[in-house]
Amino acid sequence: MILVLLGPPGAGKGTQAKLIAAEYGIPHISTGDMFRDHKARGTELGKKVQAIMDSGGLVTDDITNEMVRDRLGRADVSSGFILDGYPRTTAQAEFLDGVLTRAGRKIDRVLSYEVDEELVVERISGRRSCPKCGAVYHVSQNPPKVTGHCDKDDTGLVQRDDDKPENVKKRMHEYASKTAPLKAFYAGRGLVSEIDGVGSPEGILAATKMVLAGK
Ligand code: AMP
Ligand code: ZN
Repeated sequence: MILVLLGPPGAGKGTQAKLIAAEYGIPHISTGDMFRDHKARGTELGKKVQAIMDSGGLVTDDITNEMVRDRLGRADVSSGFILDGYPRTTAQAEFLDGVLTRAGRKIDRVLSYEVDEELVVERISGRRSCPKCGAVYHVSQNPPKVTGHCDKDDTGLVQRDDDKPENVKKRMHEYASKTAPLKAFYAGRGLVSEIDGVGSPEGILAATKMVLAGK
């Protein structure tokens, strides 16, 4: 099963992607996580994308596509995968089509998580994550047991640079101008299912499972 998750920054795609991945036993491929990993490891790629990511802009299509093509060349994608945060532009969607077509595969479903902008901004600004294990919290919706510390390893939680208010605005703009049109791109092929992105992660997962079961 090949799934693409759409929705604005802060729509909860990452959380859902992890839950769906566990539920269906297929890998979760997040280009944002991959870029953050490169940044954290200080690789050449990481250095190249650091400034643009921190400011809330989009990494170039060439760099992003290349990284995804590599990832989709690995064996663990054979029974399917979930794309979270990719594609984000029409050029990326077309590139993905090419990669899949050459592999004789196709997207099964595009899940579009629907949330309004105000809610999204509140979700993003309260988001904190663990720099060590990647666990994600929210200061009010999903707080850690000890304020400011990861439940799993007690590491001090941080706010991503791109989650800071000045950069959130840029990300919302990038989303509206470059990514939102992908919904129509995929809807034209009958692939899109809209899912209400407001509610608990478990409730949204239940709605997602219904969609995937064709109910
Ligand atoms: P995310 O965690 O998905 O919000 O991604 C964090 C940041 O990584 C984005 O704001 C972009 O700078 C970069 N990024 C992630 N995925 C892509 C993509 N598909 N195309 C371009 N840039 C991306
Ligand atoms: Zn942690």
